[in-house]
Amino acid sequence: MSLPVSLQPMIRADLHVHSIFSDGRHTPRELCDLAQEAGLTHMALCDHDTLSGHAPMQEAVNAVNERIARSGGHPLTLLPGVELSTGDTGTTHILGYGVEAGHTRLEEVLAECEKRRLERFQATLDRLKELGIQIPSQLIPENLEGPLGRAHVARILVKMGVVRSVGEAFGRYLAEGRPACVPYRHMTTLEAIDLLCRVGTVPVLAHPCRMNLSQPALFALVESFQEGGLQGLEVYHPSAPGDLIPILDAFARRRGLLVTGGSDFHGDRKTDELGRLPGDWQTQPQDVSALTARIT
Ligand SMILES: [Zn+2]
Ligand SMILES: [Zn+2]
Repeated sequence: MSLPVSLQPMIRADLHVHSIFSDGRHTPRELCDLAQEAGLTHMALCDHDTLSGHAPMQEAVNAVNERIARSGGHPLTLLPGVELSTGDTGTTHILGYGVEAGHTRLEEVLAECEKRRLERFQATLDRLKELGIQIPSQLIPENLEGPLGRAHVARILVKMGVVRSVGEAFGRYLAEGRPACVPYRHMTTLEAIDLLCRVGTVPVLAHPCRMNLSQPALFALVESFQEGGLQGLEVYHPSAPGDLIPILDAFARRRGLLVTGGSDFHGDRKTDELGRLPGDWQTQPQDVSALTARIT
């Protein structure tokens, strides 16, 4: 039986955050500082296709918690996660919660993704060169082992003054069908869900409203993912329109899916804010507890 709301511990969670280990702008330490400013008690690091931020993030969280232990306040709990890009265009994203380093099969798959991302990054630079945009080598990140995405290229184009924003870089050059878009083969969504289940993590469909499906089509798709092992739905995401949130929330609960929420913080846009979730997530403490119980 769950505790009455008044007796539940104070929980303020952001279950979807990116760091410099994928396409976020902030280091683990900076994220911890921002989490403290935002008063977060729980934060999930869900970098794209990599677990490499987990150890530095845990170290940063430990340091913050030592400080908190001395000065008082709520400790910060880190949920280790990952965000896998899936489907034909890679725009269906599956979050895996509770994923720890040391899962050999998962790390093998992620290493393969990383290799292909690097190949795509270089091919994208070649395409841009053909279009007359020569990227100076000093603007190319030194650490080419990270999971590079199109967002990295977009930021370089902004820095060069070729475009004014990351959005414009995608719209003109990098989005599907644009001249510098290099195709990339992603896992299918069901393969990703199956992989995450097999390594003992909790798969959750990220930002369902970004899929631009009609409601019946989205619900049917979620049901098919659930048959494949999906355990939750990221209802509270900045992309979800306010009027759709209660419908998604009720749908997820009716289906016995976990309800989660996250800001998808990258630190890129002025509107990005760690801990800022849409809607009124009144059931946050119970939902976060249900997720952490599933993980442990
Ligand atoms: Zn995503
Ligand atoms: Zn994300």
